[in-house]
Amino acid sequence: MHELSLACSIQEIVEQEIGRRCGGKLRGRVPSLTVRVGSMSGVEPEALSFAWDVTREQGPFPEAHLEIEKIPARALCNRCSRAFLLEESNGECPSCGVCPFRIVEGRELEVRRIVWEDDES
Ligand SMILES: [Zn+2]
Repeated sequence: MHELSLACSIQEIVEQEIGRRCGGKLRGRVPSLTVRVGSMSGVEPEALSFAWDVTREQGPFPEAHLEIEKIPARALCNRCSRAFLLEESNGECPSCGVCPFRIVEGRELEVRRIVWEDDES
């Protein structure tokens, strides 16, 4: 399952980031983290959420709740420069019809924010 290895990668990012923040040894709590998932990233948010719940149990921050920010695919028409949501179109520019466009948003897959509570402060 694709999302399971992804959840493991997110776990690694969290550990690296928290390790950096506390200068080495992991401590504190991570109540939540936010991941941006584009609709064209090939990741199923529900599957990722499920995979995360499995993964976090084995990590140093089992309480970490994964918030998923869904990013709709946004396209920009090459001819008239109109920006539009791909989901709301028929796969073509709503202004000038059949014309090439490029995807400018919606392929994201990134850890946006990690909330960390230091228990030593
Ligand atoms: Zn157009």
